[in-house]
Parts: sequence; structure tokens; C-alpha cells
Amino acid sequence: MIIVLRPHPSIEDIAKVEEDVRQMGYVPHTIRGVVRTVVAAVGDETSKDSLEVLESLPCVERVIPIQRRYKLVSRQAQPEPTVVHVGNITIGGGVFHIIAGPCSVESYEQTVSTARCVAGAGATLLRGGAFKPRTSPYDFQGLGVEGLRILQQAKKETGLPVVSEVVREMDLGLLVGAVDVIQIGARNAMNYSLLEAVARSGKPVLLKRGMAATVEEWLLAAEYIAKNGNHNVILCERGIRTFENSTRNTLDISAVALAKQETNLPVFVDPSHAAGRRDIIPALARAAVAAGADGLMVEVHTDPELAHCDAAQQLSVEDFHKLVADVEPFVVAAGKMPGWRTGKTE
Ligand code: PEP
Ligand code: MN
Repeated sequence: MIIVLRPHPSIEDIAKVEEDVRQMGYVPHTIRGVVRTVVAAVGDETSKDSLEVLESLPCVERVIPIQRRYKLVSRQAQPEPTVVHVGNITIGGGVFHIIAGPCSVESYEQTVSTARCVAGAGATLLRGGAFKPRTSPYDFQGLGVEGLRILQQAKKETGLPVVSEVVREMDLGLLVGAVDVIQIGARNAMNYSLLEAVARSGKPVLLKRGMAATVEEWLLAAEYIAKNGNHNVILCERGIRTFENSTRNTLDISAVALAKQETNLPVFVDPSHAAGRRDIIPALARAAVAAGADGLMVEVHTDPELAHCDAAQQLSVEDFHKLVADVEPFVVAAGKMPGWRTGKTE
């Protein structure tokens, strides 16, 4: 870390900063200029307390960290990509996967028929919320345990591994026993005790970016999971809140490129929750592939107009077929293998 002192510090000020730096386990190297003095604190920033507390000293102007605060998930620590194994598929190892299915599990019929259709069209994992984090307490909250049972039946019928969201820690055991990948939604992306509990479950985790989280906060959320012994993390950019109101959120393509550059984790994009409207989902999906995404998560419903939630953004089965055909040449151009061409989903 670099500690920048205010202009013309006294000898006592410099000595105090150097002493505090030593006390916190770092070695100070002071560079004195005519006006400015900086103290370079040498030591592993990830295993010691942050020196940012020194900003409270009147003589300190700024403390600048040098190392990344996320370590385990960083490319610096592990340059080769993390490959997440889910059933017999591999995520992040050069195969591009599409997770598709309804926003929420509404019935056996709706879920299984959607699962069959998306499997036939190219999806390699099935999504569906059994526990739904809804903005309004009056909206459909999901079928809960019954929803998990339906997802298991859909898996049996199609062979697709299942991704579903955990909303509360008390439901985690139910999800662990029923699904293949546990999703942490945008609303829980900073619920650190939930992140730790999910990590300890050992299940692969799909970690959405919080709707107001910086890229660093998103990656630190992933670090929570890795630090608790679970490296099977799939990042998922799903749009952030901005002033723009013609889309539900703003898909942050820069975050996809940055997450790929900064971490060794697979990065997915959810264009459905980013757009909130079905018409531009194919364009966002192509952009995601071009930015380096390892997969997509897309909402699909056999009858989108009748969906219990997120009706405006769910693709019809026909739209989904078109989407897969549309992104395939982009996936190939990006040097990845379309998961639906590997013949390993059954
Ligand atoms: C979802 O994928 O069902 C969902 C609720 O998404 P998000 O957490 O990104 O809003
Ligand atoms: Mn949804």
C-alpha cells in the first residue's frame, strides 16, 4: 500500500506513520520529496489488516492499495481458468452453455414442457425459481418445496441439471438435496452469511451481481465463497440499476470483460433480467458472447403472457430456438464450443 502524506509533513508525522505501518506488520519505505512524502508499506495486503485506517490521521491524505482485495478468485493467484463440473458438463473450460427455463416454477406441466423444449433447442442446464425474491409481498412467491420436487421431475425427464435460487439460509438444506447449482440472486449478492453457508454446502454456485454492486464488490462476494472452501463459482452479470428506464436494468458489458480479465472464474450473462423486455435479448446475448462470456442464463416460458412473474422478459420457445441459432456463430467465432454440440446433455 502507498500512504500519501499531506504537503510538508513534520518529522514527527512521518515517524508516526512509519511506526503505525510497522505495528500493522508492514515494512515502511519512505520517499521524501521537497513538498510531498509518500510511505510505501511493503507486505502481503491480503493477509494483514488494511492500512486504510491511517487515512484518519490528520497528516495522511490518501492510502492507495496495490494488491487486489480478492485473492483466491483472481487471475494473479491462478492464471488458468476455473472449470466447474456440474453432472457430466463442464463450465468455463471452453464450452459455452445456456441455462434456460422459466422465471418461476408454476406447475408440473409448465416446467416439464418448458424443460423439454429448451433441452431440444440447445439448453444444457435448466433454470427455475422455487423460492422467489419478489419486490412486492403480494406477488407470487414461488411454490417452495413443491417447486423443487417439480424441478427434480423435470431433470429426470430431460437429463438437464437444475439451477435454482436460495433466498433464505433456512431453505439451503432443501436446495442442496434437490438442485445441481445453487443460485445467489442479485438481492442476496451481499448477504455474506448466506454466501458463507452456500460455500460450505460444497455445491456449485451461480453468483449474480448485485444490482448496485461494483465489479470489485461482486468479485469480493465470490471471494467469500472461495475463502470458505468452495471454488465452484460461476459469476453472472444481470444488469445494474442506472438512470436508464427503457430497460429494466443496464447490461454492463464492461463488467463481463473485466470479470474475465480479473478472475479465473467462468462468467455468465443473464440478458433477461438486464433487459426486462424480450425484443433486445438476442442482441444482448450476442454482445455477451463477444465480450468473452462463458454462457448465458435466459428465461423461457411456454406461454410468456401467462407467466406468474417477469412476463415481459420471458422468451417463447420459438424465440429461444431463434436465440440459440443466432448466438451460435458468435460462440464459434469467440473460439468456444457450443454446449449443445457436444452431445453430453443426456
Ligand atoms: C432470477 O434469476 O430468478 C432472479 C430473481 O434474478 P436476479 O437475482 O438477477 O434479479
Ligand atoms: Mn425472473
